[in-house]
Amino acid sequence: MALPTATGTTPCPECFADITLTDVMQHEITQCPGCGAELEVIGLAPLTLALAPQEEEDWGE
Ligand SMILES: [Zn+2]
Repeated sequence: MALPTATGTTPCPECFADITLTDVMQHEITQCPGCGAELEVIGLAPLTLALAPQEEEDWGE
């Protein structure tokens, strides 16, 4: 039972560089090679990326 995956090119929401993704699943986290932003796959058809929520583990309180 393979999960649905997608392959294609989509622009980074941060720097608009084209990012090529291969067999990514929804909610997979990837990193933009252009600006280094962490991106989450939020849609497969069409392939859509959004900035991944930042995990702030230690806020120094
Ligand atoms: Zn980028």
